[in-house]
Amino acid sequence: MAITKTKFINYSRCPRYVALDDLKKEKLDSMISIEEYKKEEEMEHIIELLCNMFDDNGNDLIDVKNEHLETMMPYYNKVEILAGELAPKYFKGSFRFSKSTYNQESFDAIINNIRYLCYVDIYNKNENNINIIEVKATTTKKYLDLGNKDNSIFKKGNDGIYYLLEDLNLNIEDFMPLKVYERNRAKLLDRYTVSGHYIYDVAVQRFIIENDLRSHNENKNVKYYLAVLNSDYVFDGKYENGEPIYNTINGEDIIAYIDVTSITKDLLDKVYLDSQRIKKYIDELDGSRVNLGKYCEYKNTVSCKFCKICFNVLPEKHSILNYIDNHHGFKDGKLKYDTYDLINSGKVGMLDIPDNILNREKNRIQKECVVSGKSYINKKKIRDGLKQITYPLYHLDFETFPCPLPRYKGERPYTQSVFQFSLHVEEKPGKCDLEKNHYGYLAPDHLDHRLDLVKYMCELIPSDKMVLVYNDSFEKTRLKELAYIFPEYKDKLFKIRNNVFDLMNIVKTKSSLYESLGYSKEEAKMFNYYHPDMDGSFSIKKVLPLFSNLTYKGMEVGNGVEAMITYASFPKLLPLDYKHKYQKLVEYCRQDTYAMFAVLDGLRKTVK
Ligand code: SF4
Repeated sequence: MAITKTKFINYSRCPRYVALDDLKKEKLDSMISIEEYKKEEEMEHIIELLCNMFDDNGNDLIDVKNEHLETMMPYYNKVEILAGELAPKYFKGSFRFSKSTYNQESFDAIINNIRYLCYVDIYNKNENNINIIEVKATTTKKYLDLGNKDNSIFKKGNDGIYYLLEDLNLNIEDFMPLKVYERNRAKLLDRYTVSGHYIYDVAVQRFIIENDLRSHNENKNVKYYLAVLNSDYVFDGKYENGEPIYNTINGEDIIAYIDVTSITKDLLDKVYLDSQRIKKYIDELDGSRVNLGKYCEYKNTVSCKFCKICFNVLPEKHSILNYIDNHHGFKDGKLKYDTYDLINSGKVGMLDIPDNILNREKNRIQKECVVSGKSYINKKKIRDGLKQITYPLYHLDFETFPCPLPRYKGERPYTQSVFQFSLHVEEKPGKCDLEKNHYGYLAPDHLDHRLDLVKYMCELIPSDKMVLVYNDSFEKTRLKELAYIFPEYKDKLFKIRNNVFDLMNIVKTKSSLYESLGYSKEEAKMFNYYHPDMDGSFSIKKVLPLFSNLTYKGMEVGNGVEAMITYASFPKLLPLDYKHKYQKLVEYCRQDTYAMFAVLDGLRKTVK
């Protein structure tokens, strides 16, 4: 029997996973081949890449995972090579690293008749200890953001490696209250948090390695590290043979190392218990339904691969998971109801949830809309929001490539690198033609075309006219980044940024806007528009069909992920295909800004 690290992580989700996996393809009594292991581990790494590229709104990405994998594979490989090449700067001794699993150091241990197996990304040995370094294409931000607004629970030591404050023997209260430290540290111990996910991964690795060493009576001091992309690294734009060179810049390297020795130690008992559960699951191979829970990681990029089977108990539309803020559970006075407990007791649809536990006004409105089949519209708030809009109005949208490794000067790891903008000019209310009033720019290849893009955009958008976007934090952040990268356009880009108005403020709401217009706190925070078909989402793709016949269905490039993949494919395309794909990408982004016009126009007509 052989259990790889990736398999361990999945098998410990629930008994059903093990049985379904066995049914699907595995025979646990066969030794896993290195090819299978390699495939499994590579898949895991790439999925981690995807996690860094999209937030929870990126549900579509689950369906386009394979194209994603292909697109991102070269970047992941490069991250691993960079981590290996930089390691001797931080660690002494000899190294063994390779992006090929064949050449990596391996450990295995037999526990309860099960063979556990793992390979090490970077193996470092010196006279004092062994260092196990696991490379993850995530960023330091996930770890440095743990703490309060002034300090992180991690700090760089004199050797340039990040440590938990406790490991540096510092007085934690000099940095933050102990309670804050403990609360954030606890996130590392929860495998279902974004930072804890990687810690659990290393803890499983450690469990296998320690059992292996123990079985050989080897008593070595082993330390465990994560090697991740450094969020503070800003690329200076130096290239060699057309490839970016990631030199040390302002004391920062592209890769940072985080000591996770003490925190993974705290997880070992849990990992041991998980191994006991896995053993039981394998012995029983029981594929009957089990309760759904956070271990399914539903709609997460690392979701269980059997979600489609197990979550079919939920209705396609109006499920309990479509209630806004359902992750906080539901309440009747002091009595709390966990969402998964409700699902597991058969309350799977919105209408199954009794009114007495719908403690949030928003959820009560959602339910009313489903019951009546009608929209909820706060016409007064929408009218007041529309009054804020001035003309001519510039509808703006960016498409970006969130590259793990910075490609151009001024970028950091995972900078959302802008390669396209679309602009529709609505001269006066309701007057905007899909083609005649459209402008845009799409980078023709993977060279740095940001300056051309910025220049053209600045020419098109006057400094004193309103710019409409949908969900403003994304466009505002891109405008700010571009302003710092191109100082000659800084003033203009900040003026454009200051003129940004978010259409979502009118569809959904924005507390500060409506409070400034005289609404009470309660009124200001309640959404303005809701239709049962939105099913808890205010994304433009959900809102558009309510106001227009425009649709993304059938479009060759039909969502942001496909747009990113299409752009990534440019260098590989033959001329005819390139021309075709280029045009499809133009059409997609054009649709995004025209969709804003259509929604705005629809809202205006709705409240007339
Ligand atoms: S979806 Fe959830 S319940 Fe089903 S196999 Fe996966 S982890 Fe288990």
